[in-house]
Amino acid sequence: MFEIEGLFMNDLSVSHLNAVRSLANYLDEILAEKLTADALFFMQSKIYEIQDAGAQALTNSAMQDRKFDCKKGCDSCCYATHVDITPAEAFYLADYIRREHELQNDEYFSIPPRLNKMAACPLLKEGVCSAYEARPLSCRYILSTDIASCLKRLETLTGGAKLPAPFSHFRSSIAVASFIVFRKRRLDARWLVLDKTIELIVNDESALANWISGKSMDNKMMAEQPAGKFEEMIVEVEKLV
Ligand code: SF4
Repeated sequence: MFEIEGLFMNDLSVSHLNAVRSLANYLDEILAEKLTADALFFMQSKIYEIQDAGAQALTNSAMQDRKFDCKKGCDSCCYATHVDITPAEAFYLADYIRREHELQNDEYFSIPPRLNKMAACPLLKEGVCSAYEARPLSCRYILSTDIASCLKRLETLTGGAKLPAPFSHFRSSIAVASFIVFRKRRLDARWLVLDKTIELIVNDESALANWISGKSMDNKMMAEQPAGKFEEMIVEVEKLV
């Protein structure tokens, strides 16, 4: 079993790579031989359990000398140029929206375009995330230790929330592990943009089956793919047995 502490590292050391490999192996076992929607959703729910356990570990640990400022009703981090999401997260989120919300309510899915300015995430309703239980890693890892820095980012479009650095590494480690599992199955493993992706897949019942069969996601959904360390970590972990 993987050690959560190992996932907080950011140095591509043997222990870090092994921790990510162990997590990838754990996720791989969940998906087993035949990838099904149920297995994928179960894997994604486990990923969120791990992410939330990591947040709790960080809160309890000496890595943090200040308390998190985040609370319900504070929505400044939901204003952004975009939110990155993995393919599995996108399908998990679309499934949640289909089950929890009235599909006939077109307004719910009227997604405003985000250009270069920060706009509210389309899932933000009256200051609260309407898909909180299914929100992606990109939202879960934003735990601010200074609410003033979040508000300043919103007002000036500069800077960002003050996050404990290890938590950002933790999110990358988890994402790398899931991308390794997708790549092993020759699935399209690229970062997507939440709003465009949800708009395109939420009413498309064949989208998940197509992805599982190895078809590429629509390029309109693609986020800018991270270069450098993220890809390097995937390659290094893939070399481990
Ligand atoms: S998915 Fe939810 S938490 Fe994430 S940006 Fe959108 S409204 Fe905010």
